Amino acid sequence: MALIAGVDIGNNTTEVALAEIDGQGAVRFCGQSLVRTIGIKGTMRNVSGIIDALNQALAPLKIPRRDLAMVLLNEATPVIGDVAMETITETVITESAMIGHNPTTPGGMGLATGTTINLDALSEADSAQDFIVLVDAATDFQVAAEMINAATARGVRVRGAIVQLDDGVLIHNRLSQPIPIVDEVRHIERVPMRMPAAIEVAPVGKTIEKLSNPYDIATLFGLSPEETRNIVPIARALTGVRSAVVIKTPQGDIQERRIPAGHLTLIGAEATVEVPVDQGAAAIMDKVDQVAPLREIKAEAGTNVGGMFETVRQVMADLTNQPVSDILVQDIIAVDTLVPQQVLGNLAGEFALGNAVGLAAMVQTQKLPMQMLARKLEEEIQVKVAVSGVEAEMAINGALTTPGTKAPLAILDLGGGSTDASLINEAGQIRSIHLAGAGDMVTMLIDKELGLDDLDLAERIKFYPLAKVETLFHLRHEDGSVQFFDAPMDPRLFGRVVVMGEGGPQPIPLEDTLGRIAEVRRKAKEKVFVQNGLRALSRVAPAGNIRLIEFVALVGGSSLDFEIPTMLADELMEYGVVTGRANIRGSQGPRNAVATGLVLTSPLAREQSYGR
Ligand code: ADP
Ligand code: MG
Repeated sequence: MALIAGVDIGNNTTEVALAEIDGQGAVRFCGQSLVRTIGIKGTMRNVSGIIDALNQALAPLKIPRRDLAMVLLNEATPVIGDVAMETITETVITESAMIGHNPTTPGGMGLATGTTINLDALSEADSAQDFIVLVDAATDFQVAAEMINAATARGVRVRGAIVQLDDGVLIHNRLSQPIPIVDEVRHIERVPMRMPAAIEVAPVGKTIEKLSNPYDIATLFGLSPEETRNIVPIARALTGVRSAVVIKTPQGDIQERRIPAGHLTLIGAEATVEVPVDQGAAAIMDKVDQVAPLREIKAEAGTNVGGMFETVRQVMADLTNQPVSDILVQDIIAVDTLVPQQVLGNLAGEFALGNAVGLAAMVQTQKLPMQMLARKLEEEIQVKVAVSGVEAEMAINGALTTPGTKAPLAILDLGGGSTDASLINEAGQIRSIHLAGAGDMVTMLIDKELGLDDLDLAERIKFYPLAKVETLFHLRHEDGSVQFFDAPMDPRLFGRVVVMGEGGPQPIPLEDTLGRIAEVRRKAKEKVFVQNGLRALSRVAPAGNIRLIEFVALVGGSSLDFEIPTMLADELMEYGVVTGRANIRGSQGPRNAVATGLVLTSPLAREQSYGR
């Protein structure tokens, strides 16, 4: 009887499978564990994580580590990935033509048009005209209200107001005639005077309707079709805000400007093509398909993507002691996204969504010092350590312990940095592929699209469903179900969208609705994993035809996701493929595939024989 451990070192997670193998080669699994990988996979820093994982697996059995007969490590294909985002459009106000934002408490509501005028000038204003009055920070709200009331009494038609401070409600409450008031306009001095303007304030819980529609703006200002085309970016930037002002200035202009984002050079076996990043994800991925298989990808220096490429090359070069110039980037995935950006030349801190392209790149090299790692581990634990088995082959061997599976079978290993696929045919031959882009990219997309700038929170939003705290004693889950509490929740949670993590509800510091946050989360998962699942499977499928694959088992950390497996299964159903989450050894779910495969293919084990 020999006790052996299979150890899978991933970039995110190190997993152990423990088993006893008897003299006949029958395998009996008796434990497992999972810890966070320390350092990049295949490096010396992994050792402490591996020891920790071995200890955790052995602890319940009360067996000392020195009783292990052997430790088997995966021959990890050194793959590292990284992600970056390139913004390709931005909104610029070249002359003050627009204000649109979400002040917490605007005054009044409704739509009004008039000529912009300073509060001081109201006393001499013409009574035949409609006005939108401007109130700066130097004016007390009481005084402002009195002056507006006085003008109204003289027959001057004040239709709306733009206010610098947060005084909208205070002024509104003191007016003889209610008008819509947009407040918290920081740069009120930039608003041009004596220009036609339209102002709109939506009721609580709603967003503006007219000023976000180009034809309504055209109606209000009598615009020509040409002018209407030009205000489309304004209407777009004003979509979803609670209050807005549009001013028609002579050259007043807001533009959607394209930002040069450089280009990628895709070097394939037969052809080399260039593609500008600002043409978007579809154009990039078309070209990637066109030149596949890729040998190398270059990105323009001085761009975000160029910087990311340099980082992955550098990290891999340091790891393998090779010159940076020898490290080739072998795959990229691009996805289109929208990221919130501050409007340039803004008057009230306005944000607009800019188009961006998210990219993940991956480098792969032949030799990482796995043997050195094995020797170091052996020294530390005084147990025989061997490097055995290619990761993709081990993963499929492990996956085949899922009840109800047999070869031919394909697996998708949905990890953190890469999405891998392998296929085993009836003859036992295995083909595999590693592609850039997986869980880490989803986390980045969620972070950027929501403008969180907090990867930990983005990761939690990826992991857990959302809920809305409706009172301090109950919350409504994303699926509509209601949960009640005996004790009141933290008052800071009141009215907030929360993520339901293990530690209870955690507030998300955003104004966005639960619906939008969930939408961003789902889209990010779909963009990365559906696209990559199809890409990966078509590379390993017979004749490149996914329809010729019958069964797919999902393994890896991202297969634990509460939505991703269903998204993939739905998509693959259209190809007639049966897809499910693997259940390694009938008990481990999608985890532990590689570690389990290592044990089963060890020299001591009789092939594929094990009891659960
Ligand atoms: P690796 O093999 O590269 O170490 P893993 O197979 O451990 O990677 O997968 C890591 C990825 O899985 C990370 O992106 C992580 O966010 C994701 N992940 C792990 N657990 C879950 C979960 N419960 N729900 C969603 N994603 C998860
Ligand atoms: Mg893995």
